[in-house]
Order: sequence, then C-alpha cells, then structure tokens
Amino acid sequence: MQCEIITIGDELLIGQVVDTNSAYIAKQLNKIGVSVYQITSVQDDKSHILQAFKDAESRVDIIIITGGLGPTKDDITKRTIAEYFNDVLVRDEAVLENIKILWDKYIRQKLLQVNIDQALVPSKAKVLMNKLGTAPGMWLDKGNKTFISLPGVPYEMRTLLSNKVIPKLKEKYHFPFILHRTLIVYGLGESTLAARIESWEDALPKHIKLAYLPNLGKMRLRLSAKGFDENQIRNEVQEQIDKVLPLIEKEFFGYEDEDGNEEAVVANQLTKIGKTLAIAESCTGGKLAQLFTSKPGASQYLKGGVVAYATQSKIDVLNVPEQLINEHSVVSAEVASAMAKNVLKLYKSDFAIATTGNAGPTKGDSNAEVGTVFIAIATADKVFCEEFNFGNHREKVINKGVNKALEMLQK
Ligand code: ATP
Ligand code: MG
Repeated sequence: MQCEIITIGDELLIGQVVDTNSAYIAKQLNKIGVSVYQITSVQDDKSHILQAFKDAESRVDIIIITGGLGPTKDDITKRTIAEYFNDVLVRDEAVLENIKILWDKYIRQKLLQVNIDQALVPSKAKVLMNKLGTAPGMWLDKGNKTFISLPGVPYEMRTLLSNKVIPKLKEKYHFPFILHRTLIVYGLGESTLAARIESWEDALPKHIKLAYLPNLGKMRLRLSAKGFDENQIRNEVQEQIDKVLPLIEKEFFGYEDEDGNEEAVVANQLTKIGKTLAIAESCTGGKLAQLFTSKPGASQYLKGGVVAYATQSKIDVLNVPEQLINEHSVVSAEVASAMAKNVLKLYKSDFAIATTGNAGPTKGDSNAEVGTVFIAIATADKVFCEEFNFGNHREKVINKGVNKALEMLQK
C-alpha cells in the first residue's frame, strides 16, 4: 500500500516554515506498513493544488494533505478539494459548535463570518473533528482511494493523525506489520563497524533490511522487516539483534525509542534506577536540558539545569572558584569538573553533567582551540572528565558535544 503526502502553503515554498508535517506523517505511516511514494509541497494556488491531487491519485491509493485550511482568503485547500470532487461546501453543525466552544474559551471576541465559514466542508467529506482548532480534518473516499485533508498546524495535525486517521486507515485497508529496530552504536566509524559485522550482515535473511545511519560520532543501525505475522517478525528481528550484539558489545549504547530520541535511553535508565540528574551547560547552551525536557515525564529524573555561558556566571552562579579559571582556563577539565560537582550540590541530584568548550568560530576568551569541549560527569563521591575536539564547525561542535554527553551519561 502506498501513500503520497501533499503539504500546502506558500510559507513552505519560500523557506519560512520547514515542512515537518511530512516527516511526521511518513514516520507514522511507516509504522503501520504504508510506504510513502512521494512528498510534494505546493503553493496556495488552485491550479497547482489540483494538478498535485491528480498526479498523486494516478500513482497511489492514499493521499494525505496538510495545510491551507485557515479562515483567511489565502487558504484555499477546502474549496479546491470541493472542486476536485465536483462537490459543494455545506455547513457542518458539529464543527460550528466546536468553533463556538473554542471561541468562547480562548478568543472571546465576536465570531466573524469567516470563522463561521470554517464549518463549511465538502458535502462528500466525512469530518474528522479537530477539538484543538477551528479547521476540521476531512476524509474523502473515492472507491479504493482515499483523500485525507488535515490542518497545517503541527500539533493539530498530529493529534488528528494518531486519533482518527491511522485507525480509520487500518479499518479500510489491510496493512502488513512493519518493524524498525534501531541500535545506537558509539565510537566506531562506518567502515570499521561494517567490517566488524560483515559476516552477520551477509547472513541476514532477505526480508530483514539493514541500514547504516551515521551522525556526528554516533551510528544508528536500523533493522527493518515487514510481514503479516507481527509475532514472527518481532522474533526474527530479535534473533538477529541477539546475534549482532556480542560483536559490538563495548560500543552498543542502547535502542532508539520509537520517535528516534536518544535521550530517552538515558531518561528510561534514570527513571528505572530511580536516580536524578542535574545539568550545567556552557558551550551546549541549554541544548542538553532542552533535549531532556522535550519529552513528558522528565521531572521524574531531571532536577534542573544551569546555562552558565559567560565566565563570570560560572563564578557567580555555579561557584566555580575564580582562581581555578585563571589557573586552568575556563575551557578545562578542572572547570568542567567543578561545574558538574557544584551543580550536583545545587540541585541535590545523584548525577550531574557539565559541558564547557569553545564551539567557535574564533578562539574567544578562553584561548582554547576551536572545537575543544570538556564534558564532566559527577556523582556525590566521584567526578570524571573527558576532553574532546569536535572540529571547527560551530553547530557540529555543539551537537557532537550533546551526543557525547549522552554517551558518557549512559556509561
Ligand atoms: P488553521 O486553520 O488551524 O490555521 P491551516 O490548515 O490553515 O490550519 P495553515 O494556515 O496552512 O494551517 O498553517 C498554519 C501554520 O502551521 C503555519 O503558519 C505553519 O507554521 C504551520 N505549518 C503549516 N504547514 C506545515 C508543515 N507542512 N510543516 C510544519 N508546519 C506547518
Ligand atoms: Mg496557510
């Protein structure tokens, strides 16, 4: 079964908004065994949209559309869908009721005609009620083909996709089960890893696919398999994982969670063992803390963090002795260790992690080489620090620092 995704909106074509909707939808569809044949972004332009519908319909059975459902004149998806289906727009009373509720709750202004018109839907469409916003989702059957239109706002789209679209698709079509398991491996280059696991890889059954996904000092090894018997697929993939793990015993970090978040590996472990974490960041600028808090439930293990970016803040906020900084430089193992130890005390946590480094592009105050990063991990009675050089590209240094910090935390 194949699908195409069409995202609509001028903002996507001028680079103002990055199309994250397609990636999200593709991932969710993959999970239920639907592969995405093509992703297309089109302007808010009727003839372009009509052409995109026609092209997609000629190739696949499922067409998912996002965006262009707003109340303003530039949002023309709904009218265009009606035209494509030789249909008319009719008012849906339940949608209007939902709009009124949202209006009373959040907007508290007079309902305008354009807002009332948000309740217009093509008569042939089944409404997918959107409790989070005024634009409803729409489902249109055309024989075995299906057109699904969703709002552009990512969290509204995601909620409708998970709660309404996926279950309805499963009902209409009979999908095979697809399994992806991703192993995170650190400290081995792509070719070294490939050489190490070569004989295992060569012996993989044909229906289990392997992909190498290298990224900034870490490697993700993805095993994928598809079939109608879920248990059998799970067992077969597990069997292969059991065979490969002994080959990468030292370098294996954990499994990526379903949404591809690696901090989840650390988070799950901390939660499991009931320990807490505090973070002191300089060169990573809050990125570590942000990663951990991007998932609900972080308060179970994350006590908090400090972004002590300026040298003076390391002294004022984290109590790093000024003398230590003068003696060893602000980018040093001594300072990283002091930051970790002090943030541990500050938050009374079981573990603490600290980063200090020079992400570039110039040497700056510290006089440290661009790319130098110290990462320290502290517990009540121990502190451990490592020095790295992550190259001279600022974003890369920061991301590598974050990846490395996660790796060290795991150990
Ligand atoms: P609503 O009526 O709720 O605004 P809508 O369907 O009209 O829904 P749009 O006006 O197209 O949505 O987009 C609303 C916002 O959603 C955009 O400003 C943009 O920030 C975001 N958005 C739209 N399409 C995408 C996309 N493909 N990926 C990520 N974000 C998107
Ligand atoms: Mg729009």
